[in-house]
Amino acid sequence: TVRLPYIGRFAPSPTGPLHIGSLVAAMASYLDARAHQGQWLVRIEDVDVGRNVAGADAHILASLQRCGMHWDGEVTWQTQRYALYEQAVAQLGELIYPCGCSRKDIAAAIYPGTCRHGLAPGKVGRALRLKLPQQPHCVLSFDDRWFGHYSQDITAEVGDYVLRRADGFWAYQLAVVVDDGAQGITDIVRGADLLDSTPRQLYLQQALGLPQPSYLHMPVVVNEIGDKLSKQTGAQAFDDGGDPQLLLRNAMQPAARFLGLEVQADSIDAFWRAAVPAWAQLLQTLPRGA
Ligand code: GLU
Repeated sequence: TVRLPYIGRFAPSPTGPLHIGSLVAAMASYLDARAHQGQWLVRIEDVDVGRNVAGADAHILASLQRCGMHWDGEVTWQTQRYALYEQAVAQLGELIYPCGCSRKDIAAAIYPGTCRHGLAPGKVGRALRLKLPQQPHCVLSFDDRWFGHYSQDITAEVGDYVLRRADGFWAYQLAVVVDDGAQGITDIVRGADLLDSTPRQLYLQQALGLPQPSYLHMPVVVNEIGDKLSKQTGAQAFDDGGDPQLLLRNAMQPAARFLGLEVQADSIDAFWRAAVPAWAQLLQTLPRGA
């Protein structure tokens, strides 16, 4: 089979500095791109404007550089790409409908489709939702490179999902699919917290006529109480702009160890020279299943 040239990406939300969990995600996507002689793009996912923290994007980019993860091409910011999201929604046409339900109207976790056939009287359309097939249900599956086969009945488990939010901001699900498509991303490597978003993204890709990338979801770093170690849970930033030796020992080597890579190195360059072939070897042991 002919393999497309590999284009991967790291897509952080600028809600704070990189922490060890997001470093693991950056590292895995970077290693996979380099192990495939591919490109590695960086896209700042700042569509959820209310959660952005001023300066976090610059801090993340500086940390990537200090760790020796140099990206290809120009960094992109989703807030500069609204025209693309508008176009995609226009292209979806009849598959989209305005929804005037408030959080209070929707008691269930799964949207019951209240506005699918028109707004309820007195309601104003604020959000935009995607209409899912009802009979039969929309069931999508894919083979994840790490976890193996994954399948979801989106109609039953998620319901018609939001593409533009009631507050006017674009939803992650739409922006990520449009950008991955526009940037020609062939391979997505990210945390397993996004495994159950993937079927929604596959459905949007199909609706927009975009090719389906290949996926690798790696386990996410958890702390003692089992929370996703993330900015929201107050995980510590690891990079204070200081000594590269400490960066290597206190962040990069632990991140690699979390991925199952034992990398001995006394410099950041030596780290990557050892880590790329170690990752290529690890790939031979996949999939691992859940
Ligand atoms: N922006 C998302 C996050 O930081 C990642 C999106 C993705 O990799 O698809 O969790």
